[in-house]
Amino acid sequence: MDVKCKDLIIKGKAKSVYNTDTKGKLIVEFRDDITAFDGGKKDVLTNKGGYNAKVSAFFFAYLEQNGVKTHFFTMLDPHHMVVRKLEMFPLEVIVRNIAAGSIVRNYPFEEGTLLDPPLIVIDYKDDARHDPMLNDEIILALKLVTSAELKKIKTVALEVNRLLSALLEAQGITLVDFKIEFGRQGKTIYLGDEISMDSMRLWDKKTGESLDKDVYRFEKGDVMAIYNKVAQRITGPVKKQ
Ligand code: ADP
Repeated sequence: MDVKCKDLIIKGKAKSVYNTDTKGKLIVEFRDDITAFDGGKKDVLTNKGGYNAKVSAFFFAYLEQNGVKTHFFTMLDPHHMVVRKLEMFPLEVIVRNIAAGSIVRNYPFEEGTLLDPPLIVIDYKDDARHDPMLNDEIILALKLVTSAELKKIKTVALEVNRLLSALLEAQGITLVDFKIEFGRQGKTIYLGDEISMDSMRLWDKKTGESLDKDVYRFEKGDVMAIYNKVAQRITGPVKKQ
């Protein structure tokens, strides 16, 4: 795909987004910056962006094959992804299969409790307000999306959960929870942003070990060695267990 990078339009905490010479297409650069705790902990970890981009591209392609509309077109190189330009919704759509992280800190769930059916939690994407949790009424009152869009977002989020859980399960990994972002182009809703070790909580099925950003948050081990291994495990051939 012959797409050339032009001006920087968004510099987020871990990715940069560039306009291109092609209408309706952007380039997302997966940088090596890693942050946690609302930006309170920050580092640069060589190759992190490459591992996350590889896993994201693999998941987007898999989801597309299974009927989910995503912004993904192709990778230009290990850090640069060509995507469809979306009008992003300021929503962090979180799907939880097992209680862990903020849901355990903020509510009386015990860590490790199975959440069946999975919980969908939607946060308002606003760093200055620390991404507060929304409910349907607030989302509609703020006109962040229409009620038809909200319904669609929830349906697609659960479908993504079903598809990713099955794929990861086959690699001996439990999908504990994940965060995704959606946007629209015209009237069509697409899954945007990334799906990576930075945005999922993954536990090894056998050992219970963390295989995601919790390794960085809580200094549980060599973050890049684990990201490298997980990226290979996710994108590689299905292992016999
Ligand atoms: P953050 O600081 O919000 O964590 P990132 O470092 O992940 O952000 O930067 C990525 C930014 O690009 C986010 O603001 C995200 O909403 C936006 N984005 C992701 N995919 C697209 C897309 N297809 N079109 C437009 N913007 C996008």
